[in-house]
Amino acid sequence: MKTKLLSALFVLFFCCVVLGSGTVRYLVRPGDKLFNIVRDYNLRISTVLDLNRISNPRGLEPGTVIYLPVKEGFFYEVQPGDSLDYVAKLFFALIEDIMKANNLSYSSTLYVGQKLFIPLSCISVCANVNAMTGYTWPVYGRISSEFGWRKDPFTGSSSFHSGLDIAVQEGAPVFAAKDGIVIEAASNGGYGLNVLIQHYDGSKTKYAHLSHISVYSGQRVCRGELIGRVGQTGRATGPHLHFEIIDSNDQCKDPISFLSSSKYMYVRNEPDTLGLGGR
Ligand SMILES: [Zn+2]
Repeated sequence: MKTKLLSALFVLFFCCVVLGSGTVRYLVRPGDKLFNIVRDYNLRISTVLDLNRISNPRGLEPGTVIYLPVKEGFFYEVQPGDSLDYVAKLFFALIEDIMKANNLSYSSTLYVGQKLFIPLSCISVCANVNAMTGYTWPVYGRISSEFGWRKDPFTGSSSFHSGLDIAVQEGAPVFAAKDGIVIEAASNGGYGLNVLIQHYDGSKTKYAHLSHISVYSGQRVCRGELIGRVGQTGRATGPHLHFEIIDSNDQCKDPISFLSSSKYMYVRNEPDTLGLGGR
């Protein structure tokens, strides 16, 4: 009995080491499933997939070390030129909440590579929902290419752009625009790393060129849930989100007419430092 207890403590010691960064180190044991681990720690699977940059929750090998956040939330690595105000906007959060979660003050300066913790409870993407259509903005950024006919950024010839391009730096969080079921979470040609969500009204939304996918095919997601990070995979000339709204007849629609007023959601007329367009 005593040996069993000592052995349990020994495993616990090696499995769980609370780090100063707000994460717990977990050593995957034979028979462990990520679904069970997140249930035991009362976490969402997307949180763990995002933190560990895992794309397949079913393929955890024994001996792998993963990290679990002590509190539900996401980490963001500070990029050159970032301010607290900008990071708060990326997560649809209040600066004060981010300062509190990271023990920062208004006089604190950020440094490149600093890891900020954004508690899930502070993210208010859904506050920006269009009450008529039920869609919310999937990302905070600058619209770099609208829906419709345009000059193709690669060939220069006229082509139809089936979505909205929102330019923002790599690593910015991408949120589900509406409740639904993920029906595709994989690399898809020119779309790069791509997520397709089927909504309960028959419509679909597509999120392309991601740098990481934090959901899996078959997963139910809620509006405002983090599904991945912005990137430039596939046919893209710079980091941006290609966002499509597809109606129940499989017709792409102009997302602008389904989203809430863009007045507070992105910055127009900002100098183009991120690079434009893509697919
Ligand atoms: Zn596009």
